[in-house]
Amino acid sequence: MPYGKRQKGRLILKEKFCLDLNLNDLTCWCEERGIPKYRASQIYNWLSSGCVTTDEMTNVPKKVRAMLEEDFIFGGFTLLQHLVSELDGTEKFVFALHDGNIIETVAMRYKTGISVCISSQAGCKMGCAFCASAKIGFGRDLSAGELLAQVSVTQKMLGERVRSVVIMGIGEPFDNYNNVLGFIKLANDPEGLNLGARHITLSTCGLVPKIEEFTKEGLQVNLAVSLHAPNDELRKKLMPVAKAYSIEQLMNACREYTKATGRRITFEYSLFAGVNDTPACASELVKLLKGGLYHVNLIAANKVPGTVFTSASPAKVKQFRDILESGGINATVRREMGSDIMAACGQLRRGTIEGRS
Ligand code: SF4
Repeated sequence: MPYGKRQKGRLILKEKFCLDLNLNDLTCWCEERGIPKYRASQIYNWLSSGCVTTDEMTNVPKKVRAMLEEDFIFGGFTLLQHLVSELDGTEKFVFALHDGNIIETVAMRYKTGISVCISSQAGCKMGCAFCASAKIGFGRDLSAGELLAQVSVTQKMLGERVRSVVIMGIGEPFDNYNNVLGFIKLANDPEGLNLGARHITLSTCGLVPKIEEFTKEGLQVNLAVSLHAPNDELRKKLMPVAKAYSIEQLMNACREYTKATGRRITFEYSLFAGVNDTPACASELVKLLKGGLYHVNLIAANKVPGTVFTSASPAKVKQFRDILESGGINATVRREMGSDIMAACGQLRRGTIEGRS
């Protein structure tokens, strides 16, 4: 049975969040519970449109709603904060989950449509020196349904269809591999959110074995890799993951991903003043990426309180980009979204948790 475990003939489902269910799961559940099959589609439609309570399921009998609540986890996604940037319309949502863990989701407005940046974990174990999430520690992995709910609930709140999703919020997606894969499959479902793999971007700090495993899945998901340094020595100072996997191993895995999928990889490179913004770093990066199906996103990062890192000056950012481009490397400077509402990864969640304690 895909949606729960059997124990003495009784289904034990209570640990399953409602949005972890696909249509097939719900159809099986209806059969088990003696409920007409067509109810499964009705319930699935409600869940896909961002319902995390049964109250809104007005075309589903109260008795069936009570059975659903008996068997699955409903609720959570209580909105704790909602901030809207006056600069660019970026909206940031801080949610409390059903067990009290806190996550954040960011909706960004582009000319092409709305892109939602979702969290994959409550907290993060990766310990990047420049990151607000790393300072708070790790809560737990999010389920596939909890990743999906960030998109569907946000879509419902905005009243507009989400065009793309980036798994680039709090957490390392490949440290929650199975649930992230489950999310991609749920999001792809034409009966549900119907979001194509090419509209999903997964950002990793560089867990090499997981990149290799993901390559074998044969998905058309866009991959973004947080690089932030052109050599192991500097990268180790910024990202503990670099102590486990060298840049050479990382680049081999990336090359294989581009070969297998034909998709271009984006390397994220946050420019920190006096740390990794020198012309020498830029030249080294040119050598590293030359000839690959790659793109570099230069980020003049938001200042993260509690860290020693400050953003590189606009002149340094321009100089860095010019060196990349003259070396034949495609590079863009990422627009800083929502800088007035602490939109950098994990900042608002950290503020909310610290404000509560
Ligand atoms: S930057 Fe990403 S991977 Fe690194 S600690 Fe923060 S959330 Fe984790």
